[in-house]
Amino acid sequence: MYQDSMSSGKVSADHLRRGAYLYIRQSSLKQVVNNTESTQRQYALRGRAVALGWREEQITVIDTDQGRSGASAAGRDGFAALTSAVSLGLAGIVLGLEVSRLARNNTDWHRLLEICALTCTLILDEDGLYDPRTFNDRLVLGMKGTMSEAELHLLGARLRGGQLSKARRGELKQGLPIGYVYDPCDRVVFDPDSQIRGAVERLFATFARTGSARAVVTGFARDRMLFPARIRKGPRTGEIHWEPLKHWRVLSILHNPCYAGAFCYGRRQATHTPGGKTGQRLLPRGQWDTLIEDHHPGYITFAQWEANTEALAANAQSRGEDRRTGPAREGPALLQGLVICARCGRRMTVGYRQYRNQLFPDYRCMTSAIQDGARVCQRIPGHTIDQAVETLLLGRLTPLAIEASLAVTDEITAQAREADRLRAGHVTRAEHRADLARRRYLAVDPDNRLVADSLEADWNTALREAREARDQYERARAAAEPVETTTRARLATLAADVHALWHDPNTEQRERKRIARLLITDVTLDKTEQITAHVRLTGGQIHTLTLDKPLVGGKAWQTHPDTVALIDELLDHHTHRQIAQILNERGITSGKGRPFHELMVRDIRDRYQLKHRYQRLREQGLLSFAEYAAAAGTSEQTVKVWRRNGLIEGVPYNEKNGYLFHPPGPDAPAVQQGVPYATRRPAGFEPKPPRKYRRRAV
Ligand SMILES: [Zn+2]
Repeated sequence: MYQDSMSSGKVSADHLRRGAYLYIRQSSLKQVVNNTESTQRQYALRGRAVALGWREEQITVIDTDQGRSGASAAGRDGFAALTSAVSLGLAGIVLGLEVSRLARNNTDWHRLLEICALTCTLILDEDGLYDPRTFNDRLVLGMKGTMSEAELHLLGARLRGGQLSKARRGELKQGLPIGYVYDPCDRVVFDPDSQIRGAVERLFATFARTGSARAVVTGFARDRMLFPARIRKGPRTGEIHWEPLKHWRVLSILHNPCYAGAFCYGRRQATHTPGGKTGQRLLPRGQWDTLIEDHHPGYITFAQWEANTEALAANAQSRGEDRRTGPAREGPALLQGLVICARCGRRMTVGYRQYRNQLFPDYRCMTSAIQDGARVCQRIPGHTIDQAVETLLLGRLTPLAIEASLAVTDEITAQAREADRLRAGHVTRAEHRADLARRRYLAVDPDNRLVADSLEADWNTALREAREARDQYERARAAAEPVETTTRARLATLAADVHALWHDPNTEQRERKRIARLLITDVTLDKTEQITAHVRLTGGQIHTLTLDKPLVGGKAWQTHPDTVALIDELLDHHTHRQIAQILNERGITSGKGRPFHELMVRDIRDRYQLKHRYQRLREQGLLSFAEYAAAAGTSEQTVKVWRRNGLIEGVPYNEKNGYLFHPPGPDAPAVQQGVPYATRRPAGFEPKPPRKYRRRAV
């Protein structure tokens, strides 16, 4: 009776004019399904509202938060809708089963109370009707909120305390990884399904053999092996399904000490973001709450598990997340973190190859290769790309920027000139006025003192004004003039500074990368016949660079095709030694950048199956010694003597006195018939002095 009189006293016509909002909430889906009784009680509050005077159609039911936890307002649209309805003054009363549970978070709750007080909104729960404007009611409501939060906390603490003590005894039942099940006595045992056990054993065996998680994924993918996974939620919870093995799953299994027969608890820590989202973070081993070795049978030994995690950590140092995006790092790859794969749109990572004590970057698109064991999407040598982008930045971009700045400077200069012209006009006008005043003064009768005095004063003023105008003009001009020259000079030094900084050997590569990051948003790479790099600059402009694929392996050392063609051409007229000399004179080098010598020319001739010089000369109709001797009607020996003494000219085909001869012409030396052999000498024959022999020691 008392309650009713109190209630009726609080409800006014104004409240009744506004709507009634019934807020219904259940914490979890399970509660929604099982705890229908509570829902019925919440809907019964509707009757209370009607009894207080609201019409049925005025009651708005907010039940969109069914199945959401009340611990925070984030993600609860219903609570937000309720708050906005109250703050807009649409609600005369808010109804809830236990109103403090409208918001389990005290901050949310107090904000709601505040708004209710401001908008004269009543609050009703099963215990009574409250007017947040009155001190007593507000106190009670505040207490309810605090108690509710405390209850939540105690509940959590009790739950966690129980869980912890159980975990420390190793008796806590937790979700088991694939390959393990609980037996009827709640002990952890191997999965009875031999196929599942086989898959897990195979995973560990492959890792033991290869030492790489990626190799495990590739191995499974190559053999088209699937891996079991247990469905964790939804109507099929607990069922096993088989799927291709993913890299993250391999890592999670290798990191999980459960497979080494250990029981552990507290490996993960819940994290909360300011947006109200929760996540999980894996803690380092030292921070785990409980780790009990030899708790159950293991697929591997604990020592093996430790070795595996160490191996994984070592692998991660060379190719891990840190190579993806994020800040500029030490490595030489200029575009680290900026490259995107044109084929699949994923971000490419950086890997380094060492060659002659120098690191060469490779840009790789590895995501699907790592996760699914598929082929590497793209692998592009980064050295040439880095160079091309560097050239673009320094050679093209900096002048562009400077050009733009100079254009601005020119405009400023033009404006300054215009201002100068205006100021000059001002001076001319002032001088003209002074001149006018002077003439007026001179024209007046000097006896008319009164007029003359005032005109003199005018003249003086005009003169002063003209002088001031001129001074001002000079000052302005002095201030304006250096602008142009200094700006130009400063811009020029700025450009020089960037170049100097870039090429300074003391500049760390990280600084160059930072400069690149300031200018480049990203670079999209594609490798087909050539390498295409779309460089997106910070301003949104795109430059497309097309580069030749760098030659790999032995190809990089091959003789340039043009050089081979040249050697082929030269072989018609020159010996190997001569060709080597000609090539060196022309500054042509071998594939490895070295000067040529005759053996290299011979090797190239053999490698590219060029025609031998001998064969070429023979095809031109040149004769051998014997053939020439026959044609000349003499002996081979004579021909040799003739050649040696310069009577006939031989065409050398190698460096070892190999000669061929043009057929004897009319002016060829002839054998003098009828003359004794010893004196058979053609005209002009001068015998060579006898060879000097080394005197033998007696
Ligand atoms: Zn890709």
